[in-house]
Amino acid sequence: MNKIWLSSPHMDGEEQKYVQEAFDSNWIAPLGPNVTGFEKDLEKFLDHQHHVAVLNSGTSALHLALILAGVESGDEVICQSMTFSASANPILYQGATPVFVDSEKNTWNLCPAQLERAIKDRIANGKKPKAIIAVHLYGMPYDAETVNDIAEQYEIPVIEDAAEALGSVYKGKKCGSLGTMAIYSFNGNKIITTSGGGAIITKEKNLKEKAVFYSTQSRDPAPHYQHSEIGYNYRMSNVVAGIGRGQMEVLKARVAARRSNYNIYREMLDSREYIEFTPEPDGYFSNRWLTTILTPSYEIRESIRLSLAEQNIESRPLWKPMHMQPLFLKYPKYLNGVSEDLFDRGLCLPSGSNLSVQDLKRVIGGICLK
Ligand SMILES: *Cc1c(COP(=O)(O)O)cnc(C)c1O
Repeated sequence: MNKIWLSSPHMDGEEQKYVQEAFDSNWIAPLGPNVTGFEKDLEKFLDHQHHVAVLNSGTSALHLALILAGVESGDEVICQSMTFSASANPILYQGATPVFVDSEKNTWNLCPAQLERAIKDRIANGKKPKAIIAVHLYGMPYDAETVNDIAEQYEIPVIEDAAEALGSVYKGKKCGSLGTMAIYSFNGNKIITTSGGGAIITKEKNLKEKAVFYSTQSRDPAPHYQHSEIGYNYRMSNVVAGIGRGQMEVLKARVAARRSNYNIYREMLDSREYIEFTPEPDGYFSNRWLTTILTPSYEIRESIRLSLAEQNIESRPLWKPMHMQPLFLKYPKYLNGVSEDLFDRGLCLPSGSNLSVQDLKRVIGGICLK
């Protein structure tokens, strides 16, 4: 039986047209019409309210967002603990200290109560956090209104990690437009992909220009190569941006397909009392990047995962919270038990937009307890 993957790339055909144009015009460098075009596509998607710079990964976008927020060595940065490590690693790139905050039960994202407790406690300890990294996990928006209220009260910028949430909407606003700055990822497993890539989203044009400057080695305006600031090689190439332009044309369809996966799983698994889904709170629209389930215990979760693996079906435990990672154990954390419980009992099911109903039925049939 063929392997069913968790989330595999889904190309449409139009991508090759743009890539071919890059080859035909010999624009193979990290600048050119596809880079500009992809940025325009994303700015249009965000209703022309934001400026976008495309980069070689979501991780580099987060790194530049921290630099633009002024995060330096010795600073503290609050980060949602329940996330992929790429949300937190750039804090260490800057020599700063991550402060991990637990999740709320309904969205699995940054818990406002723990966030406020952390900010107050860090200030009492003598250091106000320099930034807050909030994540829309698996495409489910975080409670942006409450998070922004708290951030504004303490005047701390929010870096919105929308790597998993392109196409998700929170109270009428698109994910990627909710933070002081935001990032997308176009990695191979994301809802649309450029094979690898990312974007930084800013409200101010000069911040975008600054991001482009840093991402292309921080070259001063001079006829020779002159540098006054640390530079990075983070820009997206014109070839890869061509894939992105093709993928933007099918984003809507990709979101619809992922949401349909979720609905089919939910309908067909509803009668199994050992499987629990995560509904959207009022006003939340998730792209359902991955369909996730909760089981009653670690043992049941593992029994499902292993039975799927035996049938050549890939599934995956939820992200292991950052405060439990060997790399991050020593850093401050503000916990309420939610993320550890989710990690124990949760599972991601195959969720690619290219799965057939037959594939989904094979997964559903494969979910059995031993
Ligand atoms: C994928 C991902 C990233 C990193 O994006 P890359 O493009 O792979 O560098 C960051 N944060 C989250 C939550 C992600 O899922």
